[in-house]
Amino acid sequence: VIEMGTPDRSVVTTCAYCGVGCSFKAEMQGDQLVRMVPYKHGKANRGHSCVKGRFAYGYATHKDRILSPMVRESVDQPWREVSWDEALSFAAKKLVGLQQKYGQKSIGVITSSRCTNEETYLVQKLTRAVFGNNNTDTCARVCHSPTGYGLGQTFGTSAGTQDFDSVEKSDVVVVIGANPTDGHPVFASRLRKRLREGAKLIVIDPRRIDLLETPHLNESHHLPLKPGTNVAVISALGHVIVTEGLYDETFIAERCDVDAWEDYKAFISDERHAPEATEALTGVPALALREAARAYAQGGNGAIYYGLGVTEHSQGSTTVMAIANLAMMTGNIGREGVGVNPLRGQNNVQGSCDMGSFPHELPGYRHVKQPEVRKIFEDTWGVELDAEPGLRIPNMLDAAVDGTFKGLYCQGEDILQSDPDTKHVAAGLAAMECVIVHDLFLNETANYAHVFLPGSSFLEKEGTFTNAERRINRVRKVMAPKNGYEDWEVTQLLANAVLKETGGKPWNYAHPAEIMAEIAATTPSFAGVDYTVLEEKGSVQWPCNEEHPDGTPLMHVDGFVRGKGRFIVTEYIATDEKSGPRFPLLLTTGRILSQYNVGAQTRRTENSVWHDQDVLEIHPHDAENRGLRDGDWVRLASRSGETSLRVKITDRVSPGVVYTTFHHPDTQANVITTDYSDWATNCPEYKVTAVQVSPSNGP
Ligand code: SF4
Repeated sequence: VIEMGTPDRSVVTTCAYCGVGCSFKAEMQGDQLVRMVPYKHGKANRGHSCVKGRFAYGYATHKDRILSPMVRESVDQPWREVSWDEALSFAAKKLVGLQQKYGQKSIGVITSSRCTNEETYLVQKLTRAVFGNNNTDTCARVCHSPTGYGLGQTFGTSAGTQDFDSVEKSDVVVVIGANPTDGHPVFASRLRKRLREGAKLIVIDPRRIDLLETPHLNESHHLPLKPGTNVAVISALGHVIVTEGLYDETFIAERCDVDAWEDYKAFISDERHAPEATEALTGVPALALREAARAYAQGGNGAIYYGLGVTEHSQGSTTVMAIANLAMMTGNIGREGVGVNPLRGQNNVQGSCDMGSFPHELPGYRHVKQPEVRKIFEDTWGVELDAEPGLRIPNMLDAAVDGTFKGLYCQGEDILQSDPDTKHVAAGLAAMECVIVHDLFLNETANYAHVFLPGSSFLEKEGTFTNAERRINRVRKVMAPKNGYEDWEVTQLLANAVLKETGGKPWNYAHPAEIMAEIAATTPSFAGVDYTVLEEKGSVQWPCNEEHPDGTPLMHVDGFVRGKGRFIVTEYIATDEKSGPRFPLLLTTGRILSQYNVGAQTRRTENSVWHDQDVLEIHPHDAENRGLRDGDWVRLASRSGETSLRVKITDRVSPGVVYTTFHHPDTQANVITTDYSDWATNCPEYKVTAVQVSPSNGP
């Protein structure tokens, strides 16, 4: 449905949904948004868009938005609308009181990858410079934190290596644990174009994704692995490449740590990694593995794109490092058409990680333990900083249940609906004495809140988002904030309310451009970024500094960020989540084109007509065993909990595997998921849950 009208002006801004970062012209009639038109000069999308960016903006003006701050002494009381001053003073007094009573580390923040770079920078500054601890985390914890760890360990920085244009030079494209058609549609169109031109496709996914149906594919390989066996599959590919001598000796000798390579080579050559030895474990036929390995290693420019099907596992970080190993051993790094590229789910996952929203890293991926890095920020902020890494989201919740973590500022993130093991999240929130929710809507987490601060939508703010290709795009204000303030202003007001209680010097930013100037002054990879440059160039890709004044489309061209590329031994360790007689199937999850994450935005738009409920995909064999017909209601149960869904019978999933999306709150997918997580980063293992499916009469 397109709202029609006659626009009298337009503003170029950036889509707030996925990590492609499409540019749009928001066409306005007075203060009304008439339509969103894909911007033909947008470097990430070149005039294209998908149904989310084009049509699903109505949530910004939806009647459910809360526009007035609210407070309450306890969660069993009704909300009381108050002025901004009263709400901020109430919140500040609570937070300061908690620190006085329980200690400096008893409070923290969670920020969102939906927010701008400038907002995220201020939130981590609030934590570090005002609260005096490092208890700051981001929703990237539950999606791409293993990317941060894995690419940091192997290449030296946490970022995709290529720009989107690069795919036009790829000869072989490997897609692992991602479904770009639904998750990153505009990039998927470019990828499909390249496939139609003859590039080969290798898909590693438990489900037969849509890309495999691309007409006139030259050559495709589908490795339908059992959920949880990514590392074993990638090791099998590595084994074939090494034992058949398909690796790039020159690249390894010149660009990589040769000692680490020798260790890795000895490890991966072991027969236990051979496709024939892993076939039963992974469910992928040995011949298919061998053919895919040869296609990637011998097919010319090989590019790898991956998504949450890689990261959201107990071995998420290991899988990212295994992927990096594959790219290095074949010399597929440092030129157009190759590389390793995480497809970021949210609009600003890349940016929120860049901005230091992790509890162990200051902006620019620099550890809080490094005194020379702390000094840069101490000099800029005029405070002494804590050298001890703070708490991650799951640790905050554990500490809350244990009684040592008491207060939380949660910006733009509904942790009760988004995070795993809903019962544990609820217990943690219920144990806190002050929960501040800063959001557009009264979300599920707000049921446990004492202060609600209304948020502003992407149409109501100035700032920047950084997309999956490290492109910093401007977000421009299309209309005045309906709640009175942009989100960065609310964070500044909260900081100043706390500083008023503690006697600190207030912040005084007048515009996000000033925040970006501070980011540039403190963070080398952003040193050349400012709003004037962004106006002139439209966008730039970091690193953008004296050495790279026009930005950096391709990373690691002459050398890796860490110097020599580092191979890491990636031993497969089975997840503790196992199928068995009680829970014989493995559930994995994904997205659908018209909807976005838990649906808080898209369900409040006309996009809902395309998808009014989540369904459970099940193989015909498993459906027949249970006497199920298409559309039947089933009970989906795991060790953690149960829910009800309708089934769709399809051979897109393999026998033993079921699949659902998680866009509707009624689905309650996280009632089902476990509390297992990635060993290095605590990213939840959303993609493997042992379940039973049985007929039911519905919810
Ligand atoms: Fe582009 Fe992603 Fe927005 Fe779709 S959701 S318009 S692909 S940025």
